[in-house]
Amino acid sequence: MLILLVGPPGAGKGTHGKRIAAKRGWSHVSSGELLRDAVERRTPLGLEAMEYMRAGSLVPDDIMLRWIEELLDDPKHRHGIVLDGFPRTVPQAEGLDALLERYGQEVACMLFFDISEEAAVGRLAARVSCTGCGTVYNLISRPPSTAEVCDRCGGKLEIREDDATETIRARFEEFRRLTEPMIEYYQAKGKLARVSTDGAIDDVGRRVTEVLDELCRCRDAEGTA
Ligand code: ATP
Ligand code: MG
Repeated sequence: MLILLVGPPGAGKGTHGKRIAAKRGWSHVSSGELLRDAVERRTPLGLEAMEYMRAGSLVPDDIMLRWIEELLDDPKHRHGIVLDGFPRTVPQAEGLDALLERYGQEVACMLFFDISEEAAVGRLAARVSCTGCGTVYNLISRPPSTAEVCDRCGGKLEIREDDATETIRARFEEFRRLTEPMIEYYQAKGKLARVSTDGAIDDVGRRVTEVLDELCRCRDAEGTA
């Protein structure tokens, strides 16, 4: 089962991606997290991606398509993947579909986390994450018990480099220009499920669960689980 998560920066893809994966025993794969890790470790992928990410631009499609090909080849994700942040452009979506066809598979569903730019910018301005374990906090709605210290591992909390106000604006522009057409691509294939991000995290989580339970029921009925 392959579920795609899409939404503007700050929509909550990472938060819900982790929850879905834990609940259903699937892998949560975040392209953004893996790229940030690659940059940190200065791997060849990280060195190629670094400047684009700093500027709030998307990493070029050919680099991301090489990345996804390796990922799909990895047998540890066989039981199911929640893919958070990929694809982000029409060429990435076409490339992904072509690769899946090779394995006789297809995307089960794309969950679109719908959020207004205003709400997303507000969330990103309050977001800090742990440099050790990656846990994400919101200084308003989910603050750590001690300022700048991770509750889970004691690591240092920092603002993500690309959450600076000017960079957030660039990321939104990339979303509108390159990602919105990709959402239409999956809508045309009947694969899109829009999830409202209004309300608390648990409210959104319940909506996600409803969509995925329904999807699993349909697939079971068709015998395509
Ligand atoms: P959030 O973390 O709130 O979901 P986001 O969607 O902007 O926000 P990530 O998914 O973590 O953040 O991505 C961070 C950056 O990594 C992007 O701005 C982009 O530079 C790069 N990136 C991640 N996925 C892709 C992709 N599929 N194609 C190109 N660039 C990508
Ligand atoms: Mg993310």
